[in-house]
Amino acid sequence: QSLQQIFDRLNPELCQLSSVDAQMKLLVERLQLGENEKKARGLVVQLLQEVFVEFFPDSQILLFGSSVNTFGIHSCDLDLFLDLENTQTFQARAKTFTEQAGEGVSDDGRSEDSILSDIDLSTASAAEVLELVATILKRCVPSVHKVHVVSTARLPVIKYHHRELNLHGDITLNNRLGVRNTRFLQLLSGLEERLRPLVFTVRYWAKQKQIAGNPSGAGPLLNNYALTLLVVFFLQNCRPPVLPTVDQLRDMACEEEECVIDGWNCTFPSQPIAVQPSQNTQDLCSLLAGFFSFYTPFDFRSSVISLRQGSALPITDFLSQAKDDKAPPEGPAPEPKLGPLNLLDPFELSHNVAGNVNERSLCSFQKACQEADMFCRSPRYQNKSTKGKSWGLGRLLAPLGAAQQAHPERLVITIPFRTAALPEGLRGELLSAGDGFRLLWSRKVCSAVEVVLKNVLRCELEASTATGPEEMETTLNDSTQSVESHSDGSPQRAGAKRPLPSGSDDSATPPGKKPRPARTTKTNFPPWVCVQKHAVWVGRRKVRRELVKGPDSRPEGSCMELESQVTASIADKEPDLKDPLEFKVCPQTVGGTENTRLLLNVEPGSDKSGVFHDFFHFLEVFVPKMVETVLESGAGSA
Ligand code: ATP
Ligand code: MG
Repeated sequence: QSLQQIFDRLNPELCQLSSVDAQMKLLVERLQLGENEKKARGLVVQLLQEVFVEFFPDSQILLFGSSVNTFGIHSCDLDLFLDLENTQTFQARAKTFTEQAGEGVSDDGRSEDSILSDIDLSTASAAEVLELVATILKRCVPSVHKVHVVSTARLPVIKYHHRELNLHGDITLNNRLGVRNTRFLQLLSGLEERLRPLVFTVRYWAKQKQIAGNPSGAGPLLNNYALTLLVVFFLQNCRPPVLPTVDQLRDMACEEEECVIDGWNCTFPSQPIAVQPSQNTQDLCSLLAGFFSFYTPFDFRSSVISLRQGSALPITDFLSQAKDDKAPPEGPAPEPKLGPLNLLDPFELSHNVAGNVNERSLCSFQKACQEADMFCRSPRYQNKSTKGKSWGLGRLLAPLGAAQQAHPERLVITIPFRTAALPEGLRGELLSAGDGFRLLWSRKVCSAVEVVLKNVLRCELEASTATGPEEMETTLNDSTQSVESHSDGSPQRAGAKRPLPSGSDDSATPPGKKPRPARTTKTNFPPWVCVQKHAVWVGRRKVRRELVKGPDSRPEGSCMELESQVTASIADKEPDLKDPLEFKVCPQTVGGTENTRLLLNVEPGSDKSGVFHDFFHFLEVFVPKMVETVLESGAGSA
């Protein structure tokens, strides 16, 4: 079932209820893993355990992630950790034994024909072991297919699919921290019953708004683990707090509960009973609204969120503090990958769990929070509609409308028509073109855009034309005006192809004629298909400063030669994008005389490096400025 289908079924039920609290509880009931699903998952784990133990004596399969962290929903994946520590001990013992006995048989007779005899776990690389596990999965586990190793992930994993149960799964090899943070989330759910409904609602809301939920941090969206930690952090910051900080929990644990993994202190009480209940009595409805109002104005970019301390530290303080922090025994911890959203793992303090989130995703997240915050302040949030309309969660969790989804990735750069900004000669030329000025201007700007993309930013343009763009067709955006006057006064059916659209919009009204009603024409020009191989938007300011050898008073985009040199320097010195970014730019002129503007509709093609949005945001500011410079210099004249 798709989310949309689930929502369509759920919404009428939600709207029948009488409070947001009841709605949130119903959401949990409907989405959570059922007992049968848990049993089925348990059987898969058992099956895998039986197979793996054949090949890896004493190995253990451990479940973690949402199947067991209390936040699992029907379709969630099955995260497994194959613990080979005991196997390694077994292997070492068997090796000593065979050496002593001088023969190739271990104490239980298995090592000779075991696949293990091919690999020495104490010296094998992680990649070798992963491949071996993948082979076992492929060959020996019924119903498992689509097995593949993802070795580039932060924690390399083997991914697979269980056909009968339609279950996606991951197997990692070194993930004690994952098991421990799962245990931590279980503890929090156990000590605070409001956590589950809040997490379920926020996770579902984020999925519906398409701002989170991509599995295991692939891509630039928040993943469910990070989103859950954001809920926990918010609850630590309520007044009075709903949840204690991780440091406070550590202090509540007893000696036997002490736990250190890879040098990180992961101590917390094993039972909720050890923790004092919260003094906070807010209901779910007000906590949910609080989540949105907490994160709407939150200054993510200059803070580092620490669940250990339950506070957000200024980045500068964090960096100086990190140096003094106790390092794990193996040596100093690496600095976390800082970005627009810095959310430290509660235990592995050198890991930013939202390190994959880019500027664009953070903006979408905060914009969605802002909209939700506004909605929560309206009567439609808490008051059941007497007319049977959607209210409360029914409204808050509605998926993005069709209009918002139609071109989710279509982004627009606007270049306005400004005679004042044009050089004298060009202005004269345009003015003397009379009605045809609009077309002439659009052509000039299109040529300038081409210069910016090709020469200044080194994009490869596949569909550029030497003679400059030609219009494809002209349409009226108002369908009631099916007949458009030609500049010569002869009527013509809108949409019909004509050799040269005259740009006869509402420009000058000929004397003696009645003023025509204002209308807007749209003219499409042939698109450019572009490929960008270099991250030419990264670090431009610094490179520019180096090239100018000192502070540069010229604003960005004001000198074509300099900007081209900046691009060349980045392209020569910095590594190429792992996968080139492909995108399409479709120019379109809209508007009448004063508000004529050229729109560049930018759409991503292949974007395996996940850089489209960053590049677009750069283009959005850079292209209009640079186009003006090119027009002034006359370099774009076709
Ligand atoms: P779901 O599978 O429903 O999206 P999940 O909590 O299982 O939710 P996964 O992405 O499957 O999320 O990750 C499984 C587990 O791996 C998490 O519960 C967490 O323990 C760990 N994990 C996931 N992402 C990160 C991350 N960015 N940093 C640290 N640990 C992570
Ligand atoms: Mg999972």
